[in-house]
Amino acid sequence: MATKGTVNVQTENIFPLIKKFLYSDHEIFLRELVSNAIDATSKLKVLSTSGEAKGNLGDLKVEVLLDKEAGTLTVKDRGIGMTEEEIEKYINQIAFSGAEEFVQKYEGKEGAEQIIGHFGLGFYSAFMVAKKVQIKTLSFKEGAQAVQWESDGTPEYEITEIEKEDRGTEIVLHIADDSTEFLEDARVKGILDKYCKFLPIEIKFGTQTIKQDDPSGEKDEEGNVKKVDVVVDNIINNPNPIWTKAPADLSDEEYMAFYRELYPMSMESPMFHIHLNVDYPFNLTGVLYFPKLKENIEIQKNKIQLYSNQVFITDSVEEIVPEFLTLLHGVIDSPDIPLNVSRSYLQADGNVKKIASHITKKVADKLKGMFNNDRKDFESKWDNLKVFVEYGMLTDEKFYDKASKFALVKNSKDEYFTLEEYQEKIKPIQTDKDDKLVILYANSKDAHDQFITAAEERGYDVLILDSPLTPHYVSQLESKLENVSFARVDADTLDNLIKKDVEIPSKLSEEEKEELKPIFEEVVNKEKFTVQFENMSETDSPIVITQPEFMRRMQEQQRMGGGGMNMFGSFPEMFNLTVNANHPTVESILKKEGDDRKKVAKQLTDLAMLSQGMLKGSELTTFIKRSIELI
Ligand code: ADP
Ligand code: MG
Repeated sequence: MATKGTVNVQTENIFPLIKKFLYSDHEIFLRELVSNAIDATSKLKVLSTSGEAKGNLGDLKVEVLLDKEAGTLTVKDRGIGMTEEEIEKYINQIAFSGAEEFVQKYEGKEGAEQIIGHFGLGFYSAFMVAKKVQIKTLSFKEGAQAVQWESDGTPEYEITEIEKEDRGTEIVLHIADDSTEFLEDARVKGILDKYCKFLPIEIKFGTQTIKQDDPSGEKDEEGNVKKVDVVVDNIINNPNPIWTKAPADLSDEEYMAFYRELYPMSMESPMFHIHLNVDYPFNLTGVLYFPKLKENIEIQKNKIQLYSNQVFITDSVEEIVPEFLTLLHGVIDSPDIPLNVSRSYLQADGNVKKIASHITKKVADKLKGMFNNDRKDFESKWDNLKVFVEYGMLTDEKFYDKASKFALVKNSKDEYFTLEEYQEKIKPIQTDKDDKLVILYANSKDAHDQFITAAEERGYDVLILDSPLTPHYVSQLESKLENVSFARVDADTLDNLIKKDVEIPSKLSEEEKEELKPIFEEVVNKEKFTVQFENMSETDSPIVITQPEFMRRMQEQQRMGGGGMNMFGSFPEMFNLTVNANHPTVESILKKEGDDRKKVAKQLTDLAMLSQGMLKGSELTTFIKRSIELI
């Protein structure tokens, strides 16, 4: 007996519409069909536990089959199946009205693929790739009659009674001529890998041959048991990924192994992980890994995978977690993240906000815990962690509040301090005459060695701030910490960086300075260098070249595309050439005549440039020649 009917829809040609608007993501039909099969199987398991489904359930694997000759792709399960009435209800009426609603609402809109499963278009997405779809199904209910539903992509369908021994459902897709890629093993394998890797029921796709010990126990020449080829089911998924298990039951090795499973291509191992497990006020599980970030910010992003009940949804999670957290790797699984809405809506969603702040809190707590439990270990990880923490502190107020207690700074002697500890440490020596604490820093030991050494000789301490975020981070700390300013060691002379209440008298008179100034101005590029005099100690260098803090920071922030300073145009490189008014060699210039004056001035400035690595090319050659002459 066959029943014919018409699916009750207003949009006459819905299938062409489905095809057209979901064009970019045809492949998700497989995710939809496989997750339906998984759902049907999970339901059966529940019904069996409650006693509603009787008897032994047998093998519950879901299977995906390709038949190239027949041109079909089949998804087969041994779940609850459907009766004719259920097909009528769930396929003809509900599923279809969902599809129609979807098409009407989201015609041509961005992000349509994300929404597909959540409007009940799930099953009908098969028509994106199939010219004909058959459902062959036998309900688990006692005495049920097997039925087949068939439709060729028009609203007409046909239901017939069929012979089917096995409980469950087979969805047979007769693949359309423009979609034959979905008959290719590799293509289908790729889709299953992407979307179905962690579905909760085993999924079989073909078979594979593996080597096993010969059951006869026969040995080879070396005395090892011989291996034989055995054909086994190829199971494409891991039904029990670690985020579904209790942290107490897992070892570090298991977390590491799972990381490898998630990122088979990754060469680096993560430093540590956080296991997320929330069931109130929303559901969220997941494992986040901390990669070794070093100086890298950009390339690591988009590694977090988002799942909904173990079904892969997306790996672009920017709207769901705060930006700095996207530096982390791992998985988040939440059935409570609404996917049936647009991306901008997602950002404003209350649940999503709660989830984001919860994750932020968990991450901060984890770091705090590590800091409290094993300070030495935390310090050893800091260099790989700081970019992440600084990024978080810069972009998330709540994270700043927590992290400012454990964020570390490292000085030139490789000692680590919290921000508070460090302020305490330098208070007695680096407080200036206005009671402001001046924190000296350098970007690297090598580049600023001369300045670091000079500062240390004065008893000052110098931080090494070498993260790419340093320009922004330093500004932030200045605005957050009270009465603290940061100065890079090469920003000015030490006496100017940390102004004390002591006057050093000048050996040179004002007239002598006026006489010397043009001589120095003549030997350097006037656009770039400002010549000034300062009363330093006789033992300080005769000339110091510095780059004013403000100008340099503006430049750095501009290079990073931040700081909001672009309206001033670009910042030129500017330096101060500070002449030590108490240095005997400087004084000696006055005793010389004509060109000899210039020569000494040039030699002194060149030496200062050389110490800064600023003397290059022909200038360097000339300098060397002149030095030899002078000797
Ligand atoms: P959803 O999965 O969101 O409910 P679908 O369009 O994917 O929407 O499926 C519609 C309905 O068809 C399902 O809710 C289910 O009742 C039924 N169904 C689909 N596939 C199967 C299957 N393999 N076994 C049993 N029932 C199924
Ligand atoms: Mg579905």
